[in-house]
Amino acid sequence: MSSNLRFVQINLAAIAANVKTIKHRTTADVLAVVKADAYGHGIIPVARTAIQAGASWLGTALLEEAVQLRKAGIEVPTIAWLTPPGDDFEAALKLNIDLSVSSIVQLSEILDAGSKTGIKPRIHIEVDTGMRRGGILNTYNDWSDFLLYLQSKQEHVHVVGLWTHFARADEPNTQCTQEQLNVFEQYSSELQDAGLAPEFIHVCNSAATLTRDVSDHKSIVRFGIGMYGLSPDRGMLGDATDSFGLRPAMQLKAKVVQVKKVSKGSAVGYGGTQVLKEDTHLGVVMLGYSDGIPRHATSAVGVSFNGVKAPLVGRVSMDQISVDLGAATPTVKAGDFATVFGGVDGGYSIDDWANACKTINYELVTRIARRVRRVYSEEEMDGAGVL
Ligand SMILES: *Cc1c(COP(=O)(O)O)cnc(C)c1O
Repeated sequence: MSSNLRFVQINLAAIAANVKTIKHRTTADVLAVVKADAYGHGIIPVARTAIQAGASWLGTALLEEAVQLRKAGIEVPTIAWLTPPGDDFEAALKLNIDLSVSSIVQLSEILDAGSKTGIKPRIHIEVDTGMRRGGILNTYNDWSDFLLYLQSKQEHVHVVGLWTHFARADEPNTQCTQEQLNVFEQYSSELQDAGLAPEFIHVCNSAATLTRDVSDHKSIVRFGIGMYGLSPDRGMLGDATDSFGLRPAMQLKAKVVQVKKVSKGSAVGYGGTQVLKEDTHLGVVMLGYSDGIPRHATSAVGVSFNGVKAPLVGRVSMDQISVDLGAATPTVKAGDFATVFGGVDGGYSIDDWANACKTINYELVTRIARRVRRVYSEEEMDGAGVL
């Protein structure tokens, strides 16, 4: 089967350990963020693992992601926070999915769905405290109008939560997060004054949870990238393992198709962008940009074999890359597995790849293509192939 030629290995034990680690650092409930197929790790196995390890909430962006959890029989409280007007709110209510609300239009549709189904909607009000993306803003009367509307409908809705999202929680030296918290307190007290005290307050993403005092964690922390064992920002906050004791869960591996000796002066790959300075051995690895490897990756990264690095040579192709195995006769042979990232034995990390591609670890893990099979293990990763 061609699907055995490259795969992402997900270490569920690492995900469980990361949930436990965060539970030790907070008194808040832990909401496991499993949007975007659990950051590419696979929504159902990750959700089950997180719950077993102590997460008591799940969070998704899309409603269909929350529906997927329910269809798999996962029943813990679940919030879908990116649900525009027009979404199937009746289906959401029937499946007991909490909805985030950020406008009157949206809330009125949710209330309609409530009266049609006879189910009282459970909502989390999102307020915009500085991100200027989603959420209700207290300018131009949006917030006061919303409060009046909500008050008039309060018997028909269960205000479960009030929440906001930080724009710069990964920058510990800015006051922005504190300012957002101050603005949040204002919204919170106005909601209370309107007689609509929510049961839960949640503001922290991974960066805020890892860097801010427990008193800022409120009742729930929304834990995303940290659960996958990655740092919200390695440059700003340090490596996830060194700084926070978190362990990466994803390892990407692909087979070597061919190994051959190539002479000095050869131009490798499309555009001949890299000319070999010495005679060397090249390995052709079965993974390319159609699998999610960014085309603009550089030779600052590559693959590894038992911890020995083989840097990328030339451009990333659609389905393959070439790597430098060195001048000495290589021990690597066609059919061996290369570790692209995430091994624990001294190869390249996801952050190394992200840096080399001028992106962030979040983007790398979520862009690995569906055609790359996910393989799950409960065991510690040892850097060796599992197939
Ligand atoms: C993605 C997301 C999170 C998780 O962010 P991390 O930085 O991955 O922890 C939390 N809250 C909201 C609203 C999100 O969209």
